[in-house]
Amino acid sequence: MAEPLVKVENLKKHFPVNGGIFGKKIGEVKAVDGVSFFINKGETLGLVGESGCGKSTTGRMLLRLLEPSEGSIYFEGRDITKLSKGELRKIRREMQMVFQDPFASLNPRHTVEKILEEPLIVHGMKSSAERKKRVRELLEIVGLNSYHAKRYPHQFSGGQRQRIGIARALAVNPKLIIADEPVSALDVSIQSQVLNLLQDLQEEFDLTYLFIAHDLGVVRHISDRVGVMYLGRIVELSDSEPLYENPKHPYTKALLSAVPIPDVEHQSERVILQGDVPSPSNPPKGCPFHTRCPQAMEECANKQPLFKEVEKGHYVACHLYK
Ligand code: SF4
Repeated sequence: MAEPLVKVENLKKHFPVNGGIFGKKIGEVKAVDGVSFFINKGETLGLVGESGCGKSTTGRMLLRLLEPSEGSIYFEGRDITKLSKGELRKIRREMQMVFQDPFASLNPRHTVEKILEEPLIVHGMKSSAERKKRVRELLEIVGLNSYHAKRYPHQFSGGQRQRIGIARALAVNPKLIIADEPVSALDVSIQSQVLNLLQDLQEEFDLTYLFIAHDLGVVRHISDRVGVMYLGRIVELSDSEPLYENPKHPYTKALLSAVPIPDVEHQSERVILQGDVPSPSNPPKGCPFHTRCPQAMEECANKQPLFKEVEKGHYVACHLYK
């Protein structure tokens, strides 16, 4: 089988917590605590979990917008955690990000043309005429009109702004797009239009996606495989269908029970999780989910479950699966 486009091994991000009069390190927040996965070329991996579970931190580390504390990130077989700044700049054009809030990520004082020209300049497109031509092409690719180039971000609706964010990510022909909650800020009716656009673009330009969301419902139709994160770790990872049809981890079951499905007869009974997500600066011993798990057993409080393959391609970290 071909080498995956992205392979992540034991990735960690621990933020120091400083305190006292001398500002000494008094602890650390384990935002991401040993995550491993791969993404094949042309596929979409969905990464899902409640806010603060480490999914966005993982996405940012993949682009090295955040430096990992530990672990490796291979892109086309090269460990990008070891690249120099110059080498990283070259590889950056292959990986782009689409953000949750397009309004915050688009400079309000710049026209769309200027916003879309920026990455082209950074990556060496010198001719202004060529850049302007590319900007018009990009606008059409994402379903906008070329006359939109002269407008400012506030003159667009939320869905149109996200289209501009996508056009900006596409500007330099990347191979990988990390989409961090790209539709969470949009109305439900607009969400599916943006999801369809992302799917069409994937087919047309052979793109690979890491699609980050807090809701399993959103990633269902766009993901080939899905990973579920809890307190900085992936607790379940598998092809989409088995994960939705036969979830194994109690946390995945709880998340899924909250997703409304059209076929009411097959809606599983709602699992209400007790308590809040524990602080990543002081995660529980044993299984990190044991303080909220409806199926917790004695050993769960002491022994951390290994993340292992329980069915072909279906990985779970839970003592229920020996
Ligand atoms: Fe629940 Fe125990 Fe499985 Fe953790 S290991 S998810 S506490 S059953």
